[in-house]
Amino acid sequence: MWHNFFDEASDIYSLYDKDLNLIDVNKAFLTTFRLNKSDIIGKNITQLAPDSVESGRYDKFQEVLRTGHTISFDDFMTHPSYGNFCFRIKIFKVGDGLGAVSTNITDLTEAINDLEAFIYKASHDLRAPITSILGLMHLSEFEATDFKELKRLHRLMAQQTGKLDNILKILIETTQIRTESKTIDEIDFQQLLNNLLTTIELSKGAKKIKFELNINTTKAFFSDKNLLMRLFQNLLDNAIKYKNESTANAFVKIDIQDEQGGINISIEDNGIGIPQHLQKKVFTIFFRGSDKVKGNGLGLYTVKHTVKKLGGHITLQSEEGKGSMFKIYLPHEKIKTS
Ligand code: ADP
Repeated sequence: MWHNFFDEASDIYSLYDKDLNLIDVNKAFLTTFRLNKSDIIGKNITQLAPDSVESGRYDKFQEVLRTGHTISFDDFMTHPSYGNFCFRIKIFKVGDGLGAVSTNITDLTEAINDLEAFIYKASHDLRAPITSILGLMHLSEFEATDFKELKRLHRLMAQQTGKLDNILKILIETTQIRTESKTIDEIDFQQLLNNLLTTIELSKGAKKIKFELNINTTKAFFSDKNLLMRLFQNLLDNAIKYKNESTANAFVKIDIQDEQGGINISIEDNGIGIPQHLQKKVFTIFFRGSDKVKGNGLGLYTVKHTVKKLGGHITLQSEEGKGSMFKIYLPHEKIKTS
């Protein structure tokens, strides 16, 4: 019974001996990190999580072993296939070894980061059009002397209001992704992407880019078509926007393969790439890594939430000056409207 309690718990439990070799873990540990129990039991924490030394986590484990005092802290981890995680970890002494309970707080941390970024944005960029409208209103009330001048000021006010409206529209659309229900259909990737690429290839920036489509699926795949379209649209728009102007053979490769329980999608470009230190931030609301082209910093934020809504995960591999590759796993959706 007691063992069942740990095994069924949604938090991640692990137990270590005095040398920090793993004695046991619960089901949540194995499913979160997609590991087999037989591969990890008996291994040392430094083998299981080589980053634990550099991140300081290993020292914290040692400290609890030494002092016997429980420690609680938040830790970030990056899994090569499943992206970023944030855990609230509690470590405590069990006999002469250690127990650890980790709660996945990735969603909570991301929501806090997004909120902070939103407040920052609201107090800076979103205020700019409002300040400008207020100035123009003041001019039309006190300075404008003829009808022509009034019309000019009103046109400027309309421009600024339009800017603000645009940002708010995208924001509303993005939040709708989270709240709207999904409509599940069988997806014909060939048709969906051919339609999308026909429009995209006509756009000005895409002229010199070679698009390669490699769809290698044998099983029927069910998902929300509109959400998928939005996902591809955002990623392809970016691949075009951030192409390397000095590369003669610019390409965008779209690859779709069957995967257990779903599909793997990768979108690769040989554009300007994203510097290592910015890669963790690109999915944050309003984040912009480059001012070379116009944007609002909502594209990848929308992508992240679309992938989440579809029950999948996304990772990014990129090298500055060489290009970027976004890898997405999407599970089969059950055929029902949720
Ligand atoms: P935006 O394009 O409006 O700035 P996004 O959320 O779509 O906002 O992207 C965030 C940042 O990530 C961009 O400002 C850019 O620096 C970087 N980025 C996104 N996609 C690519 C890409 N394919 N190649 C290079 N940089 C990219």
